This record gives sequence, C-alpha cells and structure tokens, in this order.
Amino acid sequence: MTDLIVQKYGGSSLADAERIKAVARRIALTKDNGNQVVVVVSAMGNTTDDLIRQANAVTEKPDEREMALLLSTGEIVSCTLVTMALRSLGYKAISLSGGQAGIRTDTDYSRARIVDVDPQRILKELREDNIVIVAGFQGITEEMDITTLGRGGSDTTAVALAAGLDAKVCEIYTDVDGIYTADPRIVPEARILEEIGYEEMLELASYGAKMHPRSIELGAMYNIPILVTSSFTDAPGTLIH
Ligand code: ASP
Ligand code: MG
Repeated sequence: MTDLIVQKYGGSSLADAERIKAVARRIALTKDNGNQVVVVVSAMGNTTDDLIRQANAVTEKPDEREMALLLSTGEIVSCTLVTMALRSLGYKAISLSGGQAGIRTDTDYSRARIVDVDPQRILKELREDNIVIVAGFQGITEEMDITTLGRGGSDTTAVALAAGLDAKVCEIYTDVDGIYTADPRIVPEARILEEIGYEEMLELASYGAKMHPRSIELGAMYNIPILVTSSFTDAPGTLIH
C-alpha cells in the first residue's frame, strides 16, 4: 500500500537555488520510493525578517491584515520554486497556497489558529499523481482573508496537514540533526535523542531543532509521529511520538 508522507522544509534548507534543487531531489527520492508526498515549505532564508523590515520602513504601525498578506508571500515564493525545480526533474508537482490547501483559520491575522483542514484539493492532486507543495505559515478566514500562524508556524501547517490527511509520518527537515539532550554549545557530551514523547517535548526546554509549540500539541492530539531531522545530512534525527 502507498504511504502518505508529509515533509516540511525550513527556510535555511531553501536559502538559495542550489538548496532548493537539493530539496527537490530529496522530495523526488521519497516519491520514487512509492509514497504519496505532500510538502510544506517555509520562506527562503531571512525573507520573513526582510519583509517585516520593509513594512517598518513605510509605516510606524503596520496594519495586521496587510502584514499577514505581505508575510504570506514569502512562503508562496518557496512553494512555486520548489514545484518548478521538481517539474524540471521530470516529476508531476503542483504548488498551493495555504488557503488553496484548505487551511482554515480564525481571524487573528498575526497568530491565527487553524480551525479546520479541508483536504479535498490536496487529495484530488494526489489522485492525479502530483507531488503537492504547500506554502506554510498561512491560512484563510471565512471572509477569504489571508492569515499567518505566528513565527515558525510552518511546522504547525505540516502537522495539521498530516493530521487532516491521515499521513503515516510528518518529517520536519531543518539545519540541525535533531533534538539534543542539552545545549551542544555548552555541554560537549550532549547527544541527539532518538525519540521523545510529545509531553516531554512540550515541557522540557529543547535544544537543537526548535519546533513551533502548536505543532507538538497537534501531533499529540492526533497522534502524528513527527520526525525532526537535517536536510543537509543523512542523520536519523529525533522521533517525537
Ligand atoms: N517564515 C515564517 C517565519 O520565519 C514561518 C516559518 O518559517 O515557519 O517565522
Ligand atoms: Mg522561517
């Protein structure tokens, strides 16, 4: 039976064209292994910070609705570029904004909460054998306004989609090898945890990969295994379950 895997790639994994192409190859490999693949992407590199700076350069107090629409563009850029890179490798792929992907939220523009995931569009694209690349960190209100989920919110998009699609696993690709037992910059014998429980992950200050707390709460609620691992190495990573 085909498994459905959700993968999320963070901003540093997508910082330039070479990294985007490397991410596309990793996604392609997952598809080649016989899986259905849904990918969530963050904005490239420091894009979100740059956009915030641009807003602050034109006004002292940026409006929250405008800010959400502005910041959502960062992830739109990533999802289209990853899709183009996959297509040029010969794979069927399609990009979707958060709203197109069925991420419905409340109206808190800068820290919206997901109220519902309607997976119909993604399921249709998967049936047509597409790899689906979704813009993270954003959703849409009942009034069709774009919202954002708070800094680091793409993790939450990924786990919410994994829950809504009943995925086998949610893989979070980042720039560190996983979750450490202690801060490796201070404690030289700090090591990567093979696994950790949701509760523990929420309660302990975690070292290494930082996760959006809402994503862990959703993982616990829907019992979604979350593998946190590096996009730069073949490290086994840490399984949150
Ligand atoms: N791009 C957004 C941020 O930098 C969301 C994310 O990366 O998950 O906070
Ligand atoms: Mg980011």
